[in-house]
This record gives sequence, C-alpha cells and structure tokens, in this order.
Amino acid sequence: MGTPESVDVIVTGGGPAGMMAGLLFARAGVETLVLEKHADFLRDFRGDTVHPSTMEILCELGLLERFLDRPHKRLDRAEISWNGRKLMIGDLSHLKTPAPFIAMMPQWEFLDFLRNEAETYPEFSLALETPAAGIRARDGRYDAVLLEDGSAIEARKLVIMADGRDSLVRRQEILPLEDLGVPIDVFWFRVPKTGEDRAVRGAIHGNHMVVLIDRGDFWQCAFVIGKGKAETIRDRGIEAFRRDIVNAAPDLEGLEDALPNWDPVKLLSVSLDRLTLWHKPGLLAIGDAAHAMSPVGGIGINLAIQDAVAAANILAGPISQLDNGDRFLARVQKRRLYPARVIQRGQQIAHENLLRPVISGRTGEAEPPLLLKLLDRIPLLRRIPGRLIGLGIRREHVRAPSASAR
Ligand SMILES: Cc1cc2nc3c(=O)[nH]c(=O)nc-3n(C[C@H](O)[C@H](O)[C@H](O)COP(=O)(O)OP(=O)(O)OC[C@H]3O[C@@H](n4cnc5c(N)ncnc54)[C@H](O)[C@@H]3O)c2cc1C
Repeated sequence: MGTPESVDVIVTGGGPAGMMAGLLFARAGVETLVLEKHADFLRDFRGDTVHPSTMEILCELGLLERFLDRPHKRLDRAEISWNGRKLMIGDLSHLKTPAPFIAMMPQWEFLDFLRNEAETYPEFSLALETPAAGIRARDGRYDAVLLEDGSAIEARKLVIMADGRDSLVRRQEILPLEDLGVPIDVFWFRVPKTGEDRAVRGAIHGNHMVVLIDRGDFWQCAFVIGKGKAETIRDRGIEAFRRDIVNAAPDLEGLEDALPNWDPVKLLSVSLDRLTLWHKPGLLAIGDAAHAMSPVGGIGINLAIQDAVAAANILAGPISQLDNGDRFLARVQKRRLYPARVIQRGQQIAHENLLRPVISGRTGEAEPPLLLKLLDRIPLLRRIPGRLIGLGIRREHVRAPSASAR
C-alpha cells in the first residue's frame, strides 16, 4: 500500500496501544494511519496476556465473541511455586466482568485481530515496514512524521507516539524521561511442552526464578537474572544454566535439545520509567512510550490498551470537529498518569521485596514470604490481587463516538 501524504491522525507503532488507538480513532470517523516498522506482528519478545479489563473494552465494542474465537487459553488463578511448594496467590474467577479470566493469546494473534477489526472502518489504514525516523515541528507544533527516505507524512490534527519503550520521543529527547531503576533482566527462550498443563506460572527455587508462559506446543520461558549479570551467567556455561533452570522448574523436560548452546537464549533488558510530560502541541505519547513497564504482573499490554481508550475518549470527539485536540492533550496525561504511577510503584515493591532477595540468594531455602502464605490460605484475600491484576486501577470504558455504521 502506498502511504498517504496527509491524514488527520498518525499513530506511530503498531503494538497494543497503537493498534487500539488506530481502531478507536477510525471508529470515531477520524482518518487515521498507523505506522509499524516491522513487516508483520510475528515478534517473539512479547507478552501474551489479555486481561479482563481489555476484554471488557472488546465487549463494549461488540468484539468479544470474535476475539474469543481466536486460539487462546483461559486462566483465572495466579500460582507460584516456592521451593517446590505450590501457592495460589490470585483469583480472578469472582470478578464481575464479561470475561473473568486472563486470555493467554500470542500477541501477534491479538494484534492481527485488532488489525482485522480496525480495517472494517474506511478511515483506518496501516503501513507496515514503515519506520518513523523523526517528528517534524513547525512554529512550535508537531505536524508530521518523517520517514527514513526523508519524506514526510502530514498529521493534520495529531501525532500519537505508541512506539514502545525505545520511542523516538525518548531517543530524540522530545519529551522528558524519569528512570525509576530496575534490578532485573530476563533470559528468554523456548522449551517444548510435553503434556497438557495450566497456562502461566512462576517458579522460584533458591536464588532462581523462571516464569513459564504456555504457548501451545512450547513453553515460553523468562528466566529472571540480576541487571547486568548476563555475561557472568554465560561465563559459567550453558550446562550450569540448564541446571539453574531445572532447579527452579523441575517439571521442564528436554532442555538439552532446546538449549544445546546459548544461541536460542535471548537477553531482554527490563526497564521501568515514565515521561514526566506526555505531550506537546500536536503530539501525545501513550503506552510504553509514556511509561515502560516491567513484566511483573503482566499488565503492560492492558495499561497500553487503557491509555489508547482514554486518548480516544478524550480526543476523538474534539478532533473530529475542531482543528486539533491540543487543548485536551493534558487531560489524557492527567487521567492515565495516576494508574501508571500506582502500578509502577507496585512493580517496584515486587522488585525490591520479592525479586531482588531471590536473585541475590537472600531467600535461599527459606519459607515463602508471609504475604504469599496468607494469600494461599485465605481465598477471600486472593481476590484482591485478582482484582488488581484483572481490572487494574481507574479502568476505562469506551466513550469515544462511533461515526461509521458497519
Ligand atoms: C520480557 C517482557 C515480558 C513482558 N510480558 C508481558 C506480559 O506477559 N503481559 C503484559 O501485559 N505485558 C508484558 N510486558 C510488557 C508489555 O510488553 C508492554 O508493556 C506492552 O507491549 C506495551 O505496549 P505498547 O503498544 O505501548 O508498546 P510495544 O508493544 O512495544 O509496541 C510498540 C510498537 O511500535 C513499533 N515501533 C517502534 N519504533 C517504531 C518506529 N520508529 N516506527 C514505527 N513503528 C515503530 C514496534 O515495532 C512495536 O510494534 C512484558 C515486557 C517485557 C520486557
């Protein structure tokens, strides 16, 4: 597809935030172009969790049934294995919402679903293999996205940056960033699955922690390591690493074949940070571009979706009628900064009180922390983390107008 020379709204980045924003602005009758640098959505380094709050939004859009037709697994409890002892630490089954479970769906499937739905609106277009190289400002207002060949696509009303934690607004220092610090990185690899099992689980043993994500015929594994410790671990050799994995998750089989050397093991750098200002005239950052999330709790995708919904709720109406939505941009930050801040604070607490002691070996063969034991023992208490994970804080509902009948 050739890219247009100008549209009302350009969304840079076709991840969860960008695709949902594209869908909602187009649904409101705003001509919207999403630019995605990759040729498809088939990227491996993605989370797979679609939470009840996101499915509530899909339900409000009349899309839930079609979404649930796509291959997925359902999970309504969060479990952790602590030195071999299984603890139930979250329960979502009591949530009063259309889908009280986490749908484990590969993110490429979810993004492909959003693309299909968005493409039913004539105002939506998606340009794949189209990386944005810069954002143009004229007379103090951002009004175009620059491509690598030097050409510009004009955004008549707004540029939304949903290009993740390496966003242009960060790299080009367009918007100010506050780093919150994070003590972990992650080794990311696959191990074939030998039997039917429950979807996601964390396993901690001694000073090792691995999270297993069920992707059908294989486990996507995230092995948590100390920040900057990858080389030290690699220097001990792949066999020692395989032993660490088996220590944490003794059920995993076939590691020799899956990890014969370090090639299949990718290092993912974890960040926790946020912009202190999310907007300038003509420009708004949402999702990880505005607040990079740690994988703890698996909530980054849903927060990104909620940002997109809030942005459309606040801006799509004015943008479809006025010259631009500049005077409403601060409202989006005001609405979404609070949940981002609270969730990031929760992730910091988990980093310091759970992950740092584990990876630094301070827990050893110790008993699980009291809080985890209480959650396991008291079913009513488990509903609290279930609610926080499932529905989040200040959840959004679709209020943006729908212009086109399908
Ligand atoms: C190891 C790891 C595991 C995680 N697991 C989970 C999980 O299980 N559940 C969960 O909810 N969250 C998880 N997260 C967090 C989650 O992945 C993010 O919070 C979420 O993807 C943010 O969505 P987004 O749309 O804002 O950004 P992204 O998902 O990062 O999407 C940004 C998009 O922009 C595109 N892009 C980037 N630059 C450009 C450019 N210049 N031009 C055009 N396109 C561009 C990218 O290709 C990408 O498609 C995890 C994070 C990490 C690091």
